[in-house]
Amino acid sequence: MTSTRDYLTHCQSLAVMGGTFDPIHYGHITVAEAVLASFAPQRVLFMPCGQPPHKNNADISAAEHRYQMTLLATCDHPFFDVSRMEIDREGASYTIDTARKLKSSCAPDAKLYFIIGADALAQLLTWKNAEELLETVHFIAVPRPGYTKKDMNATIAAINKRCNERIFLLDMKKIDISSTKVRRHFAQGKSVRTLVPRPVEDYAHAHNLYRGSFSFDAVKTSLQKRLSTKRFVHTLGVIKEAEQLARFYGADVEKARWAALLHDCAKEYSTDKKRALCAKWGIDLNSTHFAQVDLTHGPMGAESAKRDFYVTDPEILQAIRYHSTGHGHMTLLDKIVMLADFIEPYRDDYPPLAQMRKHAYTHMDKALLVGIKYTIKEETQANHPVHPDGYNALAALKNGGKK
Ligand code: ATP
Ligand code: MG
Repeated sequence: MTSTRDYLTHCQSLAVMGGTFDPIHYGHITVAEAVLASFAPQRVLFMPCGQPPHKNNADISAAEHRYQMTLLATCDHPFFDVSRMEIDREGASYTIDTARKLKSSCAPDAKLYFIIGADALAQLLTWKNAEELLETVHFIAVPRPGYTKKDMNATIAAINKRCNERIFLLDMKKIDISSTKVRRHFAQGKSVRTLVPRPVEDYAHAHNLYRGSFSFDAVKTSLQKRLSTKRFVHTLGVIKEAEQLARFYGADVEKARWAALLHDCAKEYSTDKKRALCAKWGIDLNSTHFAQVDLTHGPMGAESAKRDFYVTDPEILQAIRYHSTGHGHMTLLDKIVMLADFIEPYRDDYPPLAQMRKHAYTHMDKALLVGIKYTIKEETQANHPVHPDGYNALAALKNGGKK
């Protein structure tokens, strides 16, 4: 295995993609691919900057995070590499220092290209030691929204006149993605799926980089779009009831409202989508589930809560997983979410509803027992198989009642 330093010594041509990468996005990656295709450098070296001279450092994520995300986004590409050169260097990251260093590390006649977007090109002459920089490396200028080809050509012509044809224009369609847009999407809880690779999205969430994305209200708004009106209203009812039950029984109110919010998040997926997701997410479709795929919406909801809404708390995930079947060892939180689902205030009437509401705040187990028995009876009458977890829940609640 060769290190970056090793291959630099033999490198005949290298394209450097410098940037803040806060975070790296598909715009950067697509540009790098286009440079590979048009200029055929041996590698594209992504160079996250340490302290950008042109940006307010207080607003920028830690260099190590930006480096890790850049690595995650590029590591499976055989011709992409990431360098720590700028983030490991003290002080502001000036491109001239990087250019000098690379020039002295590569083969003497190596061709060095620096890739810059139209916005950076417009500022190029203000960069430190701009003339020396232009003598040291070539630049590949890339179109970006907000900059016309005419403007770019004029800037390139003006610089090339002074510095002897050092800038090439990459002919490609403009890509309307910026890190600013990605951060805004994160902050507003909007999808970033078309903007950044999934591992970058996961990393940003895991490290809470662009906060606000998955606040309770942001998730609620997102679910309102995902669910039918009827189901969304039901969800609001379950939240209300679960909060009330949690307060009454001294459970964690915050966990109860999160589990209630997400309990049906996967319920309205089509049967085919549920089957496909079960296969993809490794949810066991045993015969009982298979006969009634709707029963998977509990485990699938827990997976979706984890994967799509970044819920990590195992107690919340468990309450979502078992809210429709129950199970043999239900926690207080599991019971609260299941009961809230049965009795929430917007429920259409069904035979044991009044009885369950009567018991809910005096004998919770009794209320649940009534609900589970009723469900099992209904399913049996409809010739639907009953999930074994339902029988386990029933047995445990009966036993608990005898104690
Ligand atoms: P921010 O919005 O935070 O400024 P950015 O999207 O501009 O982020 P940078 O890390 O600042 O990303 O950019 C690194 C380099 O990549 C710059 O030269 C920039 O012009 C270029 N670049 C970024 N996005 C694009 C894009 N969509 N098309 C072409 N070039 C891009
Ligand atoms: Mg920028």
